[in-house]
Amino acid sequence: MKFSTKAIHAGQPADPATGATIVPIYQTSTYTQDGIGQHKGYEYSRTGNPTRQALETCLASLENADYGLCFASGTAAADAVMKLLNPGDHVVCADDVYGGTYRLFELVLKRYGIEYSWIDMTDAASVKSAMKPNTKMVWIETPTNPLLNLVDISAVAALAKASGAITVVDNTFASPYLQQPLALGADIVLHSTTKYIGGHSDVVGGFIGTSNSGYLETIKYHQNAVGGVPGAFDCWLTMRGAKTLAVRMKQHCENAQRVADFLVDHEDVEKVVYPGLASHPQHDLAKRQMSGFGGMVSFVIKGGEQAARAIANKTKLFSLAESLGGVESLIGHPATMTHASIPVDEREARGITWGLLRLSVGIEDADDLVADLEQAFAAARQEAVPA
Ligand SMILES: *Cc1c(COP(=O)(O)O)cnc(C)c1O
Repeated sequence: MKFSTKAIHAGQPADPATGATIVPIYQTSTYTQDGIGQHKGYEYSRTGNPTRQALETCLASLENADYGLCFASGTAAADAVMKLLNPGDHVVCADDVYGGTYRLFELVLKRYGIEYSWIDMTDAASVKSAMKPNTKMVWIETPTNPLLNLVDISAVAALAKASGAITVVDNTFASPYLQQPLALGADIVLHSTTKYIGGHSDVVGGFIGTSNSGYLETIKYHQNAVGGVPGAFDCWLTMRGAKTLAVRMKQHCENAQRVADFLVDHEDVEKVVYPGLASHPQHDLAKRQMSGFGGMVSFVIKGGEQAARAIANKTKLFSLAESLGGVESLIGHPATMTHASIPVDEREARGITWGLLRLSVGIEDADDLVADLEQAFAAARQEAVPA
C-alpha cells in the first residue's frame, strides 16, 4: 500500500466487536478477563490500549517501521529513547535541536551521567571527529528550527553505524510524508505528533518508530515502567489528523513556496530561508533527502527588532503563537519567543537575529496568506515612518 492509503487504513480495520468503521475511543483503564490470565491481549491501559495500538500501527506503517510506540508528548518520546543509554554513555547531538530536547538532555539527563557533544551537524564529517569510545547515540534533527538547517541523514547514519552508535532522527519538521529516516539508515525515528501528524493544533503527542526489536523492547519496557502514555481520545484525534497528512503536506509545501517566493521579491526583506529556494545552502540535499520542502519559512526583516515586532503584531491570518504544523498559519519571533532563553551572543552567532521571523504556513488559500503578509508589511512600514 502507498502512503495515503496506509494513513487511512493501516491498523484501522472495522471494529471486531461492533463493526464500527472508525476505530472507537476505547475509554477504559482496565479489561475484564475471562479467567485468571485469560484476556484478549489487554490488561491495563498504561501497558496497552486498542485505540493507541491502532495509532501506533498506522504511524509505524507511514515511517516503514516494523514497530511504533506512542507517548503523551514528543518530549516523553525523546525521554523514552534516551532510556536506551546508561550512565557514562556519550551522545553526539546537533547544536540547534528543539529547545525542549536540549533542556531534557542538558538540564535533566546529564544529572544521570549522560554526556553530550553539541556540534554543527550540517557538516556530516564533523560527526566523525566528535565520536568518542563511549559514544552510543547520534541525535539528528532535520530540518531544524527556526533556521531550517539540514543534516545529511544517510551520511551521518553511516558514520554512526561504523562506530556502533544508534542513530535517532527527530522527523517532526518534515513529517513522514516528506522524509523517511529509517530508509536512509537511521535506527529510530521520532515525532512530536503535536505538529504535522496531528495537524490541527488540538492535541499533544509523541511517537517513535523502529525496525529493531531490541530497541523496541527496551523502550516499551520503560514506557510501561515510567508511564508517559497518551490517552485514548488523544490517540483518536491524532489518528484522525494523520488520515489527511498527505493532502495537507502537499498544500503546506505549495503554500510555503508561494510565501517564500513573495518574501524573496519583497524590498523590506533581507533574507529568506526555505529549503525549496535555490539560495538555501543545502537545497541540493533537500532535493535528495526530502520529497518536498515543508511548510516552515523563516525570514529576516530589514529594520531589526522593531520591524519584526510590528509585522508579528500586524498579521491577521498568521496568528502570533508558538508551535507549528497545524492547518492554520502561525507567525513567531524566535528571539523573544521560542529561543529567548539562549544567551544573546550565542543566539546571534547562530543566526537567530532580532529581525528573524518564523512562519508555519498553513493550508488556507495562498492568495489570502500573501495578502495578509502584504498588509502587515505595509502597516509596519507606516509605523516606522517618524511622525
Ligand atoms: C515540538 C517539538 C518537540 C517536542 O514535542 P512536544 O510534543 O511538544 O513534547 C520535539 N521536537 C521538535 C522538532 C518539535 O518541534
